[in-house]
Amino acid sequence: MLCHSCYAEPSSMPDCVACRGTGRATSMPLCADPWNEVVPGLFQGGHDVRSQSGTACVVDDEFDLVVSLTTREGYGPAAGVEHVVLRLADAAIDPATAVRVDEAARRVAAAVRGGSSVLVRCSGGLNRSGLVVASALIELGRTPDEAISLVREARGPWALTNPGFVAHLRGLPAPRPAS
Ligand SMILES: [Zn+2]
Repeated sequence: MLCHSCYAEPSSMPDCVACRGTGRATSMPLCADPWNEVVPGLFQGGHDVRSQSGTACVVDDEFDLVVSLTTREGYGPAAGVEHVVLRLADAAIDPATAVRVDEAARRVAAAVRGGSSVLVRCSGGLNRSGLVVASALIELGRTPDEAISLVREARGPWALTNPGFVAHLRGLPAPRPAS
């Protein structure tokens, strides 16, 4: 995964203290909050959080639409809340996955545009949820870099550190895995 400080950007990576110039990180901490609002009505979160509470990430009826990129028994949402399950791997994006991400992003964007509150969640609430939220923000008119920045402002610097996801959002071919 990418360094949370320089994101392997050529301008800042050589002098980066956090990764000693490698541009890469080997572990990432959990977020403090179960979810955070990225733009009004659009929330990003996960099933794992730094809190000791076993129920911190359980969703009740706080949202009109919940998009889950992974699911766990007992994590909601409440009956009656629209729940879209789209199992997504935290890996490189192939063309079929790109289509599914795009469909989910359009659905999220339409709901936000219509005034609904939407939660997109994965495990840590950093990469898979960030991919769908950022894609929805692009659908809503943001540039890819604006969308990536909004996700990192909301969820912290470890959000969107999957280099394949960042490349996908910027419309670039995915980088070759580091050897
Ligand atoms: Zn770095």
